[in-house]
Amino acid sequence: MTKLHTVEITYTSVVIVQDGEDPAQVAKRCVCDICGDDSDPHIEVIGQITCMDELPLHWSGDAIPYGGDDTVFVRDIITAVKPKNIRIREVVTKNKCQCKLCGDIIESKHVHDFVRCKCGEIFTDGGKSYVRRGASDFSNIIDMTESYEEQYESDW
Ligand SMILES: [Zn+2]
Repeated sequence: MTKLHTVEITYTSVVIVQDGEDPAQVAKRCVCDICGDDSDPHIEVIGQITCMDELPLHWSGDAIPYGGDDTVFVRDIITAVKPKNIRIREVVTKNKCQCKLCGDIIESKHVHDFVRCKCGEIFTDGGKSYVRRGASDFSNIIDMTESYEEQYESDW
């Protein structure tokens, strides 16, 4: 798979400076010569780029990264890298409900614990894994489910 990485290349050189001249300006003027002459600069790999925010300064999606065949843009590779999404799921702690007709409160305690109320009008099933309910008239179910929301990393 094609990936983008930020690398930092450090050239160390010597410049001639006249009185009042800024060595940095001289070096900037000679930067192409310096890079061309020094074939062994210090190179450090900063890390992989997975989103636009991680691009170094002056780089954008429209830039062409080095090392490729000059037809692939930064944005082509970044959109192919799929970051994990933070999503929210509901975690059931009590699968519980009450029947409006007979007043019975029923609770399914584990995945195959199918529980029906006294009068047979409603049932609940699934425990904490999933909440499955049934009734001849769904308005007879008073939901008493207890749950909380949890963040998780999703691949989609
Ligand atoms: Zn009932």
